[in-house]
Amino acid sequence: MNIFYAPPSQINNGFAELLDQEAVHASKVMRAREGDKLVIVDGEGGRYKGVIRRITKKSVQVEIEDVQHQSRSKPHLILGMGIIKKRDRLEFAVEKAIELGASQIGLFRSERTIKENVRMDRLESIAISAMKQSLQSHLCNVNIYRSLDMMLEAISADTILVAHEKVGETKTRIDSKSIHDSDRTLLLVGPEGGFSESEISDLTDEGAELVSLGPNRLRAETAAIAFMSQFL
Ligand code: SAM
Repeated sequence: MNIFYAPPSQINNGFAELLDQEAVHASKVMRAREGDKLVIVDGEGGRYKGVIRRITKKSVQVEIEDVQHQSRSKPHLILGMGIIKKRDRLEFAVEKAIELGASQIGLFRSERTIKENVRMDRLESIAISAMKQSLQSHLCNVNIYRSLDMMLEAISADTILVAHEKVGETKTRIDSKSIHDSDRTLLLVGPEGGFSESEISDLTDEGAELVSLGPNRLRAETAAIAFMSQFL
C-alpha cells in the first residue's frame, strides 16, 4: 500500500489533508481516486488508514478510519556527518542513513570541509521520501551546523562514537553494552579530508570513543552507511 505524509497540522477532526507534493503524488502519480484507501504518516509516530473523500487541484482529503501510534526504536541513532563537496553523495548518505533508522542527522562544516553545496529543501524532501520508503512513521530531523562544536552543543547524546580510520583495527568492535545502555547515540563521520588532529583530540577529551570501520579507507558516504548498519 502506498504511504503518504501529512504533518499533524494537516490532521484535524477525523480528516487528513494531503497538500503540495503529497497531493500531486497521490492524485497525479498514483492516480488515486475518491473512495480509494491509503495510509498516511504524520512524521511523529502517527499512522492513519483512511479513504479519499475529495480530490481538488491542490489537495486530497482523506477521512480517517483507523489510527495507530508507533514508538521510536531505542537507542536513538543520530548521524553527524561532515559536509562533503559532492551534493549527490551527501544526499545519498542522508537517504540511506534514514532508511537505516537515523532519528536525527546533523551535517556540519569542519576544519577540512572543502565546499558547501547543500540544499535544505532537497534534504527535507529526501527525508520525507526515505521515511515513507522504509515504512517508518517518524520524520528524521536534518539540520546544518556551521561547525562541529555548534552541532555538539545542539545535539544531546549520551554516547558519541567517531569513525576514524587512523584508529587501530582492534577498535573495530563497537562495545554493544555502552550502546544498549545509551538512549541517544551520536555517530560521527568526517568529510572527505577526514577529521583534523585537533578535532579528534577535542572529541576524545569530551569522552567520545574512536572506532574503526575496518582496514579499507571508505568514502565518507560509505562510512556513514557502514557505521549505521552496524546497529540494525
Ligand atoms: N584522508 C582522510 C583521513 O585522513 O581521515 C580520509 C577521510 S574518509 C574518506 C572520510 C571519513 O570516513 C573519515 O573521516 C572517517 O570518519 C570515515 N572513514 C572512512 N574509512 C574509515 C575506516 N576504515 N574506519 C573508520 N572510519 C572511516
